[in-house]
Amino acid sequence: MECKETEKLIRKFIDDELDYGESIEFMEHIHECENCREELAIQFLVTEGMANLEQGSVFDLQGELNERLNNMERKIRINENLRYLSYVAEFFAIILIIIFLVLVFVK
Ligand SMILES: [Zn+2]
Repeated sequence: MECKETEKLIRKFIDDELDYGESIEFMEHIHECENCREELAIQFLVTEGMANLEQGSVFDLQGELNERLNNMERKIRINENLRYLSYVAEFFAIILIIIFLVLVFVK
């Protein structure tokens, strides 16, 4: 993914509207691109900062941003694990079917 596309996703990230595929590409790019990380931090600080000011609450925006990024990574990891598990399950299902067929036909 290029910086230009990532910049468009920053808005969606802040609004929590990234779908799963976008999240993966977004996180990958954010990890390796210093510029987009900065851009994300700035936009996040401005957007959330304004909202928090209106609410008059005390806030730690950088911490909040990090937490959001961590949550997204966790979601991606869980999803990958689930997908891996379903591959494993499928694999065993196929093995069982093969064993079953062998047992039936070898008699
Ligand atoms: Zn970039």
